[in-house]
Amino acid sequence: MTTLKLLSVASEIYPLVKTGGLADVTGALPAALAAESVAVRSLVPGYPSVLAKLAKAEAVQTFADLLGGTARLITGTAEGLDLFVLDAPHLYARPGDPYVGPDRLDWPDNAFRFAALAQMAVRIGQGRVPGFVPDVIHAHDWQAALAPALLHYAGGRRPGTVMTVHNLAFQGLFPAHLLTVIGLPPASFSIGGVEYHGAISYLKAGLQFADRITTVSPTYSREILTPEAGMGFDGMLRTRVAALSGILNGIDDAVWNPADDPRIAATYTAQAIEARGRNKAALQSRLGLDSKPDTLVFGVVSRLSWQKGLDLLIAALPTLLEHGAELGLLGSGDQELEDAFASAQSAHPGRIGCVIGYDESLAHLIQAGADALLIPSRFEPCGLTQLCALRYGAIPVVARVGGLADTVIDANAMALASGVATGLQFAPVNAQGLNGAIGRTAELFGDRQAWVQMQLNGMATDVSWRKPAHYYATLFRNLVAARAAAR
Ligand code: ADP
Repeated sequence: MTTLKLLSVASEIYPLVKTGGLADVTGALPAALAAESVAVRSLVPGYPSVLAKLAKAEAVQTFADLLGGTARLITGTAEGLDLFVLDAPHLYARPGDPYVGPDRLDWPDNAFRFAALAQMAVRIGQGRVPGFVPDVIHAHDWQAALAPALLHYAGGRRPGTVMTVHNLAFQGLFPAHLLTVIGLPPASFSIGGVEYHGAISYLKAGLQFADRITTVSPTYSREILTPEAGMGFDGMLRTRVAALSGILNGIDDAVWNPADDPRIAATYTAQAIEARGRNKAALQSRLGLDSKPDTLVFGVVSRLSWQKGLDLLIAALPTLLEHGAELGLLGSGDQELEDAFASAQSAHPGRIGCVIGYDESLAHLIQAGADALLIPSRFEPCGLTQLCALRYGAIPVVARVGGLADTVIDANAMALASGVATGLQFAPVNAQGLNGAIGRTAELFGDRQAWVQMQLNGMATDVSWRKPAHYYATLFRNLVAARAAAR
């Protein structure tokens, strides 16, 4: 098989910079695609955390003025990743979060920060950077989504383009007057171009002009064609349905491996699942929960936002407590939710333990120690924490939406009878639905045999990148072949 060259463009990449699942995907896909003879270079912004880890760095091009400052394109490697890093201090040399400042507001120059990234992708795509000319550009989310549009309007020879939507809710909306500044022609400001309700939408730019569009689960790829989940883009997406498909995410099964995880209290395998108990004890102690081995412990690892439905969990806490369960939560996000969980903890010490913040190690311990993992998302493009839960023998209790619906086999009577259940799904996604799911979980927890069977089924589920990487590689190759045939 000939090697296909892929330029992956994203604003996050694990383990260099991460705010969510996007980083997990862009960080894990390169190695998984290598097994499919796809050679990946990842283009990322030169945030301080990226530059600090860069090895074998070599500046390949310099720019006197890239959207308001000097910049360099650097090649190098970090943590096993082959990178192009856009070192533009006026855009990226700032501490903290990639998108928001210390005031929690978007950085005011985000339009420039991610236009610069896309412009660099275009340069590389057009073969203007010696040493790596990609066959396909894979643009992730709105931060990379200008690239397909810029390539379209530039005309001439270009690589194939694939736009992956990790979350349609983030649309990259910016004022219309920036159009030519960021490199788009006036004609692009139209309904068939990048215009969206009088503004520029970077995400729309990608969706409109990419050769192929993927979302991160088959169910989400159908949901976004409806007004309920289309976030205003459903009409436009329906015009592109022939180019749209869904490919589930995997997880990095080396990072998430209970048999060899340095971040948990005790490693374990499906053959000796009782060893999870030590992680449960460690989790209870870490979160100040009562140390009762037989108490059902629900875990949550999540951004605290409306999308994730954690306000529903606040409403369902009385039910959770009535069932005698404990809750261990790790998350950060909306102030209101952070405050609500902090006060729930004060009101119910020993029963509710919350860590407000971001903590990779604790995320692993929750997966290894909680009995069940709650994910009451209102919408979920794929979701990764339920995949980690399956691998760690924590029973995922999920809303029946998006990738959650695609990855968890609900413990209904049929699935239990045939021994294939891996978790619980609930619908409708409201407090009542969640209350019902908590009740069903408590009931199943009382049936040791059924519970352990579900744990083992989950741990035997292939949640790795192997299959998804094969689907992506097939998509890329088919695209290259289709474009060659059309020439
Ligand atoms: P999203 O990208 O929408 O936030 P995903 O489920 O796709 O949701 O991915 C979330 C990723 O971020 C998972 O790897 C999860 O473990 C991690 N994560 C979320 N919140 C935290 C947190 N507070 N601390 C550590 N890891 C977290």
